[in-house]
Amino acid sequence: MYYNSINNKLNIKNFISIFLNNIPKDKTLFFPFKIPKISKKYFSFLKNKSYIDFSFYISKYFIDYINDEKLYNILNNSYLKFNNEIIKLESLNDNYILNLNTGKTLAFKDIALVPLGFLLNFVSKIINKKIIIFCATSGDTGSAAINSFKNFNNIKLFTFFPFNMISDIQRKQITTIKRNNIHNISLIGNFDSAQFLIKKIFENLKLFKKNFLVSVNSINWFRIVLQTVYYCFSSLKLFKNNLINYYVPTGNFGNALSVYVAKKMGFPIGKIIVCNNDNYYIDNFLKYENIQNNFFKKTISPSIDITIPSNFIRIINVYKYKIKKLNEINSIFFSDKIYNRYIILSLEFFYLKYKKIYDPHTITSLTSLIKENLKFNNVVVSTAYPIKFFFSIKKIIPSIKLNFKFKKTFKLVESYKIFSLNYNLILNYVKKKI
Ligand SMILES: *Cc1c(COP(=O)(O)O)cnc(C)c1O
Repeated sequence: MYYNSINNKLNIKNFISIFLNNIPKDKTLFFPFKIPKISKKYFSFLKNKSYIDFSFYISKYFIDYINDEKLYNILNNSYLKFNNEIIKLESLNDNYILNLNTGKTLAFKDIALVPLGFLLNFVSKIINKKIIIFCATSGDTGSAAINSFKNFNNIKLFTFFPFNMISDIQRKQITTIKRNNIHNISLIGNFDSAQFLIKKIFENLKLFKKNFLVSVNSINWFRIVLQTVYYCFSSLKLFKNNLINYYVPTGNFGNALSVYVAKKMGFPIGKIIVCNNDNYYIDNFLKYENIQNNFFKKTISPSIDITIPSNFIRIINVYKYKIKKLNEINSIFFSDKIYNRYIILSLEFFYLKYKKIYDPHTITSLTSLIKENLKFNNVVVSTAYPIKFFFSIKKIIPSIKLNFKFKKTFKLVESYKIFSLNYNLILNYVKKKI
């Protein structure tokens, strides 16, 4: 498999080169030179396979540097960390909920970040060099990354999360795991500033000559690959006669892009409905071709409080954005925005009517499905478990209870540094810790 910078089809790279350098010299992103297409015959072969087998057969197209046996073992060992089903489909009248919150940190990111950790550890041993990971987090990537990398001594992880803008439980999940290879930085700013800061550090790679710097945000193509498996697997399991539509709570557009890649590989996927909250950059773009940034708004769905969705340029580029090509994008991607006040009302509605509590991100997709009132073959992507947003939900549903495991997390001592957006100060801190 070959990859190129989205700005330059001639800047061709192989797996290992983009695995260790996630950002091309032209500061854009990498994309496969060609997305592999799966044959009809291969679909029948895949149809009854387990999730682990699926993850192997899909990632094998993109990760050709590691031999089959080793790759299978890496994926198998990663998914042994999950207790029950790795992804869980649950029916919802004529539609489905795709539960991706089965990992340790209770958000969809675990299912991709756990194997990504094993892959990075494997590669770092082969090249015999330390890998430094930078992770900007709007709440969930940080804890999923820590959980994935905490026991790999040849990997160092720096997480950057916006001060006071993630839920208390999200912060506790990040800051209470003590390891010498993990450093947490709380930035006085929002997620976009954290992402911007990391990009700036990556642009100065010279400063880190001896080490490889890797991102575990969805700008890292292999996170997209491992997420693509969710949609290859679930669409094939559900498919009978009609294509499957996915409703995706969307922040950085990594998850929505993964659905698109599965569709392009030929899996039976129809529409991709991108659901924003009050930070509705993508909805604005898809509906009104308005590429202006919105103002940042803090909501009760913090993991999608993002105004610069970094993966969106990957799609724009596929269609070499010209106004008339927007129709093509619009025939695949639909969008919706669910304002915070409606998220709150919906949370209340599902509780009163069905005694069900959903997380405030999943609620954006659920609300959108109900608004559209489409019948059949719709899948609501559930990205997190509600307990992560306990305190916000408690204000709406006072009877919600905190389970025992989280009570314990609450008593643990936190460790993190608070920084203002001072690039040089942060850079010095990072260099000292490497
Ligand atoms: C990360 C996250 C999202 C957004 O996913 P993107 O790939 O950034 O669009 C949505 N919901 C939850 C709970 C998340 O943690």
